[in-house]
Amino acid sequence: MTHTIPTRLAALRRHMQQQGIAACLIPSSDPHLSEYLPPHWQGRRWLSGFHGSVGTLIVTADFAGLWADSRYWVQAEQELAGSGIALMKIQTVAQPLHLDWLAANLGAGDVLAVDGDVLALASARALQDKLLAAGITLRSDDLLQAVWPDRSPLPGQPVYEHLPPYAATSRADKLAAVRDAMRQHGASHHFLSTLDDIAWLLNLRGSDVSYNPVFVSHLLLDGSGGTLFVGDGKIDTALAQRLAADGIAVAAYGQAKVALAALAADSRLLLDPRRVTLGLREAIAANVAVVETINPSTLLKSRKSEAEAQHVRDTMVQDGVALAEFFAWFEGAVNRETITELTITELTIDEQITAARARRPGFVSPSFATIAGFNANGALPHYRATAAHHAAIEGDGLLLIDSGGQYLGGTTDITRVVAVGQPSAEQKRDFTLVLKGMIALSRAQFPQGTLSPMLDALARAPIWQHGIDFGHGVGHGVGYFLNVHEGPQSISRSQPEATMAMQPGMITSNEPGIYRPGQWGVRIENLLLNVAADSNAFGDFLKFETLTLCPIDLRCIEPALLNQEETDWLNDYHRHVRERLAPQLDGVALAWLQQHTRAL
Ligand code: ZN
Ligand code: ZN
Repeated sequence: MTHTIPTRLAALRRHMQQQGIAACLIPSSDPHLSEYLPPHWQGRRWLSGFHGSVGTLIVTADFAGLWADSRYWVQAEQELAGSGIALMKIQTVAQPLHLDWLAANLGAGDVLAVDGDVLALASARALQDKLLAAGITLRSDDLLQAVWPDRSPLPGQPVYEHLPPYAATSRADKLAAVRDAMRQHGASHHFLSTLDDIAWLLNLRGSDVSYNPVFVSHLLLDGSGGTLFVGDGKIDTALAQRLAADGIAVAAYGQAKVALAALAADSRLLLDPRRVTLGLREAIAANVAVVETINPSTLLKSRKSEAEAQHVRDTMVQDGVALAEFFAWFEGAVNRETITELTITELTIDEQITAARARRPGFVSPSFATIAGFNANGALPHYRATAAHHAAIEGDGLLLIDSGGQYLGGTTDITRVVAVGQPSAEQKRDFTLVLKGMIALSRAQFPQGTLSPMLDALARAPIWQHGIDFGHGVGHGVGYFLNVHEGPQSISRSQPEATMAMQPGMITSNEPGIYRPGQWGVRIENLLLNVAADSNAFGDFLKFETLTLCPIDLRCIEPALLNQEETDWLNDYHRHVRERLAPQLDGVALAWLQQHTRAL
């Protein structure tokens, strides 16, 4: 007998009443502030029935609401129907409207409960400021523990080493670089909770969450050694010995708070308030000095070394071969569809593209859930086809495919839109405008240190010119066999900060789009590497090297909308793609490549 959502909410409300709690806030978060959560921390999903990855649930005695951004409105409306939970619409995830709701609907003296162990310190401060002004008290309490009987255990997948040659910098060298940064901040200790920072720093990987090759842990460093807090049995004896050789001891996952509480009074602890939770911050004794700054590893790992960049270039050839084989299969299959009564759906796309990548050496897993959206479904930037809801690919239209792979030598993320049948003039215009935006950013040269949000307008300008805009950022940082979304740089309309400066070696996506709700969507995405350009009396300049190797569908382009420089860029790009991929291909895939990289 399964529990229904109203039954779960009733149990929570009974518990809240017993504890004198007026409202309870459940974010989509875990102790590591990860994008993808292990099932143990998917409490918001369990309690609300909403499966979207981002959303905030608030429950009071007589109200329950889920704050979700525009990506999830359609899905949330379907999933929340009959649950007694209201959908509270926000435009973007950055809008903290639930805080305003709390301030307006709770009274002075009321208690709001939230699990401080899954709340970033910076978010907790924003919450406290808002509540304090309204006289509301914040209590850190994991209410789910009391009402969630079949909660999943912590993930127990084994941890493994990311080895040379792919791990191009040794663990000892990375630890030394982080300790240099600690010394610059006068810090004797440094505490990390973010899983990609820990995986990068220790050259370790895992599979505790989908798509990101990371493992659940915390890390405490001092001037010469450190302790990795990780679940029992995840690190075998041989690996523990290799970590010990670099001064890293292994301790139980639950001991992180104890170790923070035990820091000596004269310690100076460096931590990142956006990457450590309130619960861990509160474990630190008052007489320990805390230095708050961005994790040094976040800055260091964003700048790929030349050896890493070379592995990524090689990986892009593998990914490009997989894509050529996939697209060659797809074109043949679509053309045969009516004859053989075979139906290709959005789900088939995911299966085939993943199978093509899985045949490549070094492939580990997809880097995120494939987005394959035909026509109207392509207009939903975060659409995901499911067994229950997906479209067949038939008739005329545009098919948008956003997919990526994790390889030992790098992480890929690529979007292509291809014509099925005959694209319309309006579809070609949208496609070409997006291409112009993508080319504009690809060709940009800018002073080293330019704040990445400032580049966002370069890709949008050709689209704005026609009175069109799109609701997501142009680009995100990409890890090296790590998270497909990483900071600190972000080519988006976010508030520029000093840590977002563009530096040599950064890999960032370039993915403008145009979305026509109910009709079609266009997005074209390549990954770009920051490389040195002019250096003169005006300073050091950077430009982009395009890493992604896959044709852009010529059938969707309106050539009259491209100027000579844009046409030249496209022809150069296609020549480069052909030169890199052709030696690795034969048969129909090679014929497909030749056909789709011809000069415009
Ligand atoms: Zn993508
Ligand atoms: Zn992307």
